[in-house]
Amino acid sequence: MFDSNHTSVNEKNHLTLGGCDSVELAKEYGTPLYVLDETVVRERCRFFVDSVKEYYGGNGLILYASKALSCMALYRIAKEEGMGVDVVSGGEMYTAYKAGFPMEKVYFHGNCKTPEELSMALDLGLGRIVVDSVTELRQLASIAKEKGKTANVLFRIKPGIDAHTHDFVKTGQIDCKFGLALETGEALEVIREAVETEHICYCGVHCHIGSQIFDIDPFCEAAHVMMRFIKEIKDTCGADTKELNLGGGFGIAYNEKDDPIPFGNYMEAVSRVVHEEAEALALPLPFILMEPGRSIVATAGSTLYTVGVVKDIPDVRTYVSVDGGMADNPRYILYQAEYHFTLANRAGDEKDAIVTVAGRCCESGDLLGENVRLQRPVPGDILAVSATGAYNYSMASHYNRLPNPAMVLVKDGTHRVIIKRESYEDIIRNDIF
Ligand SMILES: *Cc1c(COP(=O)(O)O)cnc(C)c1O
Repeated sequence: MFDSNHTSVNEKNHLTLGGCDSVELAKEYGTPLYVLDETVVRERCRFFVDSVKEYYGGNGLILYASKALSCMALYRIAKEEGMGVDVVSGGEMYTAYKAGFPMEKVYFHGNCKTPEELSMALDLGLGRIVVDSVTELRQLASIAKEKGKTANVLFRIKPGIDAHTHDFVKTGQIDCKFGLALETGEALEVIREAVETEHICYCGVHCHIGSQIFDIDPFCEAAHVMMRFIKEIKDTCGADTKELNLGGGFGIAYNEKDDPIPFGNYMEAVSRVVHEEAEALALPLPFILMEPGRSIVATAGSTLYTVGVVKDIPDVRTYVSVDGGMADNPRYILYQAEYHFTLANRAGDEKDAIVTVAGRCCESGDLLGENVRLQRPVPGDILAVSATGAYNYSMASHYNRLPNPAMVLVKDGTHRVIIKRESYEDIIRNDIF
């Protein structure tokens, strides 16, 4: 495997994850199995947290965007590493709360938060609500008023930079369901209303320009646009912007082709832009927030499957079907995400076969990878897919009534279950007739 110092091949020719024999893990816990390396997660957290100290005098907070992988263990780790978290639903909020996460360090995102969720956020004392529309602002103000509370808010802005691909585009981003537009004056108007609204405390602005970004320039451009906007807010609304949240989206390596940038480089470049702009515009330095999701957990995770069937179709392709698929990892069927594969029980052998890895669900598109290099597989082999820590478990479904796999946390040769495998009883739990 690659992009991690914590995988290797042991004397049995088995892949090890966090010092544990992956074939033994598969035997003990069954497959499909999510395996998460705690050392890698904590290492990633520290890269981010340390870079704020190093390049921005510690005047900021790293928020783990927990939609990438939301479970109690991750909120505990984020807490121990001194981070805040993003949540995007009542379910994530509840999980963080039950894990004992400090709620004042929780930021609540989303373009369609329900009144119940807004109410819950106020009751639980969430740090910030990132308001996405004027409708939400008014709803939140009225709920806060009823409760006799004040909501601390940021506003999600569309900075006109879209960096979802390797290139970034600076226009046309107005067509997006998230956030308030800059160029139409919408954002400024809503913030002006907020500043004058009782039970609302305006704290700052937020933007999130994309995901799996391998370039520093779009972040610098976003910092530049946002600092100019902060000046405009000051000049026209008389309001101080204490917090600038520049979102997440830092790219990670899914396979050999990806070349991620160390996070420190992002922070260093963004810090420079913010300092320059603050000086040029005579603004105080804002408290900075960054929201890595994928880059915290993706490479720490692997999924183990058992090969069930190998179907060789002469002159067409070889299908290798495994006991999981789109229900535990929908990223291939959603956007043909590429992964790195290896046979865990013959990890050191040469990859001399080209195969298509298929899931077990009733969809022809249920694949995990097409034309991938692999050791020639036979039924019963254990297949490991790397970099599945983000947007796998969190996007899992029960399609075909498949129970969700267990997740095991590994560290220095030790292992423990952090999410139990679902049973068939769990599957019918809410069927009441
Ligand atoms: C999804 C999301 C993130 C995290 O994105 P990654 O690509 O996982 O780093 C951060 N902030 C917001 C608002 C998001 O929606």
